[in-house]
Amino acid sequence: MMRRKSVLIKTLSVILVLGWAISAHSLVVPVKSSLAMAAMSDVGGRTVTDKDGRAADLVVVGTVATMAAGKPNARGLAVTGGKIAFVGDAASARKRLRPGGRLIVLEPGQAVMPGLVDAHVHMLDAGLMLTRCPLDEAPRGPEGKGPALEMIKECSKRAREKGKEWVIGSGWSLVWFDDKGRGPSAAELDAVVADLPAVFYDDNGHSAWVNSLALTKAEIFTCKEVPRGRIECIDEAPKPDSKPWGTLREAAVNLVDEKLPETTQEEWLAGLRVAQTILHSHGITMLQDANVNPGMVDAYHEAARRGQLTMKVVAAQLADPSKPASQAYELVQRRDEKSTGRFSASAVKIFIDGVLESQTAALLEPYVGTDDCGILNWATPTSSSCEAGDSAVLADLVSLLDRHGMQVHMHAIGDRAVREGLDALAAARLANGPSDNRHHMAHLQLVSPADLPRFRALGVIANVQPFWMFPDRWFEENAEAVIGPERAGQLYPLRSIVRAGARIAAGSDWFVSSPNPFCAIQVGTTRQSPEPPFGAPWIPTERVSRKTLLAAYTTGGAYVNHREHETGSLEVGKAADFVIVDRNPLTVPVRRISGTRVLKTFVDGEEVYAAGPATGPQGDPDPEEGRRQCEDAP
Ligand SMILES: [Zn+2]
Repeated sequence: MMRRKSVLIKTLSVILVLGWAISAHSLVVPVKSSLAMAAMSDVGGRTVTDKDGRAADLVVVGTVATMAAGKPNARGLAVTGGKIAFVGDAASARKRLRPGGRLIVLEPGQAVMPGLVDAHVHMLDAGLMLTRCPLDEAPRGPEGKGPALEMIKECSKRAREKGKEWVIGSGWSLVWFDDKGRGPSAAELDAVVADLPAVFYDDNGHSAWVNSLALTKAEIFTCKEVPRGRIECIDEAPKPDSKPWGTLREAAVNLVDEKLPETTQEEWLAGLRVAQTILHSHGITMLQDANVNPGMVDAYHEAARRGQLTMKVVAAQLADPSKPASQAYELVQRRDEKSTGRFSASAVKIFIDGVLESQTAALLEPYVGTDDCGILNWATPTSSSCEAGDSAVLADLVSLLDRHGMQVHMHAIGDRAVREGLDALAAARLANGPSDNRHHMAHLQLVSPADLPRFRALGVIANVQPFWMFPDRWFEENAEAVIGPERAGQLYPLRSIVRAGARIAAGSDWFVSSPNPFCAIQVGTTRQSPEPPFGAPWIPTERVSRKTLLAAYTTGGAYVNHREHETGSLEVGKAADFVIVDRNPLTVPVRRISGTRVLKTFVDGEEVYAAGPATGPQGDPDPEEGRRQCEDAP
């Protein structure tokens, strides 16, 4: 978790518009009809055409931004059997349409572009959260408390009806509660649900609000000490036997998490249907799920097997720092057994460090006012001292994974973590020689200038989250405070990374922040808030062009997922993974990029998302547009 820039209103309205049942249906049907369509137009490996050679099932005419090298623009696109059969002028595209095929003529200003690739997103986790009890729709001001309590009542009723053991939800705001220091109390939650244990995570994922029964289940009878966590206390001056208040911080949240029933496969699949639809509504056709456990791998496998996976997914299986390097064999085996159809479990997620706000990101120089450099998860002993620990296990694990063709996806926030990760990848290269495994490193908040050239030299892809690249309250209160203004002035050195010759891919880190790639592209291009007041550009020398970022979200993402021959640009022979948008994000004024509305999304030639009728006036730039699209939790 980093910070949470919430999806909120857009996300929830998509769910409400589609409804659970409808979204489940619309996701099953296209895959089946895709097979039917392929069968219709391909017989014995040859494409069936009429006497004039017209074979295309689908033709789109209008502005085409191909993202293909050398041929960036076209006016027509033809699709046959789920693949792109033609890209070029409009008249030639139209001529290819078979009788009964579908013709889409874009309106002026609209454009077709490749399906977007989110290279770091938590699709299954996000979906699960949304199917439980999300409070995100309650207003973020003090007036939101009442509606939130009503939602909790409703969720509890549903949980009882379904025979659930717990009520689990997320998205509460501290603004709702009077006690800003201790947060919400168990008594307040007991007032709406007392007969089932209940836990609600806050809107930045670092605190949990629990009722009395949940405290009992988790055996929290006093506000005892918890390493790297805190149990808030009823007494203002806590004594060892003081009673807990009802809010748990950081590692104390685990005490409750450990007691929750294991998520079933059907729960994961229900979450998948919801999250997949939301991501398609943002134009995403492929992604890398950045942290999956074995149960999630099974759920993806099952969805792919049943024909319910309309998203192309690479999953990064979580590696465990408490286990030896030999865990690699289990991860490789799971990849080989579970990858099927659109799903591949071919990556491994390695958390090198934590996050800045809890001072667990690993830094080369200490946090302000301390001699603490943060935590390197794989070093032994695990300590926050600035002395180098021994990270032999990490190097062994990475080398073993690399030898077996697994891709390593690292989480690295601090400059020390980046160096540690690059060192392990360098050790793997030394042991195994160069590979095509396309290891990548996500977040990269602080990077020592000395390490910049190593990305290119080692073939490591920088996986960036452009939506984070403006200074908001999170930044001022949490990041600048702990690393000081000098290092804060070096955060997210994106242009430096690009200039050092590194390949880049981009991701949202949804559920932590908004999944909207157009908001991210605008922020990475301007380094300003996507909504008024925009503020001055933040570290303007690190801005990059929108083309660079759109490439990261298309061709770059396809490359990091090893699917650049199949997707990421609109070229003959590739899969027909594309989106129709209401404006061309490459040519509209820069502050209108975030307002880009996805009208339709296609995967392998099949429509997997279609927007409802537009609301509000069209045409003029709308100053409120960014606010609606990139909705940001306070
Ligand atoms: Zn993440």
